[in-house]
Amino acid sequence: MEFGIVAALLVMTAVMAYSATARKKINDRGGCPECNTPVPAVRRPTSLRQFLWGGWTGEKCGTEMDRQGCELTRV
Ligand SMILES: [Zn+2]
Repeated sequence: MEFGIVAALLVMTAVMAYSATARKKINDRGGCPECNTPVPAVRRPTSLRQFLWGGWTGEKCGTEMDRQGCELTRV
């Protein structure tokens, strides 16, 4: 049981460190590929996927991006 808790904590730490790196990557790319809107400092996830994996939706054009600032195909 305890091993499971430790493993879960390790995974959470890794995910947090990874998302911090991902956030920096987005900022480096200069924001939205469509309209160049800078990535807001506080991003509100608009979907579970964004909450888990990062990425954001452009406020001006509604373009959805992954955590690296690449445009996602809208479904
Ligand atoms: Zn945009």
